[in-house]
Amino acid sequence: MDEFGIIARYFAPLAATPGAFGLKDDAAIISARPGFDLVVTTDQIAAGTDFFAEDPAGTVAQKALRVNLSDLAAKGAKPEYYLLSLTLPRPAREEWLAEFARGLSQDQRQFGISLLGGDTSATEGPLSVSITAMGFVPAGRMVKRSGAKAGDAVYVTGTIGDSGGGLALLRGEGRDVSEADRAYLVARYRVPEPPKTFGENLCDIAHASVDVSDGLIADLGHLASASGVGIVVEGERVPLSPALKALWGADTMARAVAAGDDYQIAFTAPPGRNGPFTCIGHVRAGEGVSLSVDGKEVAVPQPGYRHF
Ligand code: ADP
Ligand code: MG
Repeated sequence: MDEFGIIARYFAPLAATPGAFGLKDDAAIISARPGFDLVVTTDQIAAGTDFFAEDPAGTVAQKALRVNLSDLAAKGAKPEYYLLSLTLPRPAREEWLAEFARGLSQDQRQFGISLLGGDTSATEGPLSVSITAMGFVPAGRMVKRSGAKAGDAVYVTGTIGDSGGGLALLRGEGRDVSEADRAYLVARYRVPEPPKTFGENLCDIAHASVDVSDGLIADLGHLASASGVGIVVEGERVPLSPALKALWGADTMARAVAAGDDYQIAFTAPPGRNGPFTCIGHVRAGEGVSLSVDGKEVAVPQPGYRHF
């Protein structure tokens, strides 16, 4: 099957929005929405770096999409559209593509997003998937990394470190961990769980926000420097899953805050807010991120993942 056959068979059914023209034109249209800003973000994942070449095609698709959806959620945007650029190792395998498209289709329903277009090319190297996601936010209300104020509380959605735990398991750590815990952690590595609709409420509560992709401490560091403030993370309040504690024991918190690939949202807002998130610390005058345990400052674990 050639490139055009692949597009018509596997991707055109995902492009339901009229502005995609059934993937039969050179470009797509997004109609301007008065009173809203279009928020745009892109993220790429590659076999051997962000997933394993033999991972199921459906989970590769979901990871590629969700690493982008966490950025939109962190900015308070409601996801709408995405562009998909695929670099496929030769020869193209139909079963792989069918499963990949099924993964996208499931997530389109779950997250209310639809395909607008993309590009397809072949390579002798590893598979890579690049997605550009777009969503709307009320005009002028995108939640930035800057905007945190001394006295804010720091909150995070979900649990931290699970994906890092899943990767450690796939690399051979934790051979005595139960099947159920292993399945949970590996699933979090393969398919992140960014909050689904929560992002849309973020503009109303958050002063500043960042998606946690490089690691909790590292990403809060980005937020702190963009805002010109310091952040204190209270280690004992960082939400950790039972499965991760079963894997990492007494080291869980220290490893979790430095692990990457969480795709949760960390934000600052006035203290005392309740919702589907956990308060993990506070903002103060100063700079950088410090970590405390039971009120005592401890060394900050090495910062998160860097490609270079
Ligand atoms: P060009 O020759 O300009 O690169 P293509 O033949 O790549 O154009 O694309 C034809 C149409 O198919 C366009 O609408 C494009 O957006 C769409 N398309 C190509 N590859 C993909 C893909 N991987 N996912 C979604 N749409 C795609
Ligand atoms: Mg093309």
